[in-house]
Amino acid sequence: MNTIQKTQGLRARISSSPVARVLIVVMMVLVLVLVVIAASARIFQAQLGQLVFERLATERAQQDRMATLAPGLHVAFCGTGSPIPDATRAESCAVVVAGENLFVIDSGSGSTTNIALMGLPPDRIKAVFLTHYHSDHIADLGNLALQRWVNGAHQSPLTVMGATGVEQVVAGFNQAYALDQIFRPAHHGENIVPSSGGGLLAAPFALPPRVTPPAKESAVTVYDADGLLVTAMRVDHAPADPAVAYRFEYAGRAVVFSGDLIVSRTPGFEDFARGADLLVVEGLQPEMLGVLEENVIARGDPNLGAIMRDVLDYHTTPEDAADVAQLANASALILNHVVPPLPSRFLEPAFLRDAPSRLDGPVRVARDGMAVSLPQGSDDIRFDSWF
Ligand SMILES: [Zn+2]
Ligand SMILES: [Zn+2]
Repeated sequence: MNTIQKTQGLRARISSSPVARVLIVVMMVLVLVLVVIAASARIFQAQLGQLVFERLATERAQQDRMATLAPGLHVAFCGTGSPIPDATRAESCAVVVAGENLFVIDSGSGSTTNIALMGLPPDRIKAVFLTHYHSDHIADLGNLALQRWVNGAHQSPLTVMGATGVEQVVAGFNQAYALDQIFRPAHHGENIVPSSGGGLLAAPFALPPRVTPPAKESAVTVYDADGLLVTAMRVDHAPADPAVAYRFEYAGRAVVFSGDLIVSRTPGFEDFARGADLLVVEGLQPEMLGVLEENVIARGDPNLGAIMRDVLDYHTTPEDAADVAQLANASALILNHVVPPLPSRFLEPAFLRDAPSRLDGPVRVARDGMAVSLPQGSDDIRFDSWF
């Protein structure tokens, strides 16, 4: 019997089987239903799109992340990249939620949008803490002030805390946004957007005189209210000076943000970070950055190559960050300010190298939207994504 005869025989057996005939009819009906659904979706796409949009808009309007949080200290990342363009990361920005208040640490380009996308209400921002005045830590301040102002009808400007130099940064943004601060109240009215609430207000704090390593820098208290204590310590990010790290303590939990620094030239940082539940340190992977450098030089861009070489002398590797976290007895480490960009999570082990083996605790690479909750009355460290 040839192949054609076999096929014809099989068809004959199927067509004579009652079960097979029912199955064929059911399948034809299913296909017909799917075709009708697909055609209807195409014909009524505009109406269906409107319904979906209304549903999403209602969900978004009712979203208030802060209302859902357990008592404790909460940290989230609104920007985990650097000045090197990264499709998945805004520039430096983190938020701390302490009770009813929201604090922002640095305001790099693109980060304000991420605060809203995480479901955090911009009008609840109590203050911004700047680690230093490199562009990738301040570029979004104007937009941040605007979002807080127009969302909350605030009557006083957004407070920006920082070491010496914060007055100059704030004055520059206020000048750049001076016209916008006239246009918005003129359009919406003083009740909706009070003129007095636009812009930024500098709140400088003094640091002890700079010491020469190996002497240790000492910490100063820069904020103490509503159960939240914030201390700052000068770090070495020369020639960007002053540059500081911050320690936030609330509800018996502590998180430390290093800002940009070279940890090996910052004696005392491990004391500042001592016993933190979470240590957030910038991370630069020299071998991976070296690959980028070779490529930009090969394509005829020696300037960018030189910049990539220069940045090695004032940043920290993931391994060095893990070593200082272990020395400080920190419970967990997050590598932030990720250099070079990592377009996929698959690359994270190559970025971290030996870092995870050097700390008795979790070591993670920061991603935009990542959140860490430190509940009150426990040692728990809960990782999440608020996107
Ligand atoms: Zn930076
Ligand atoms: Zn910097």
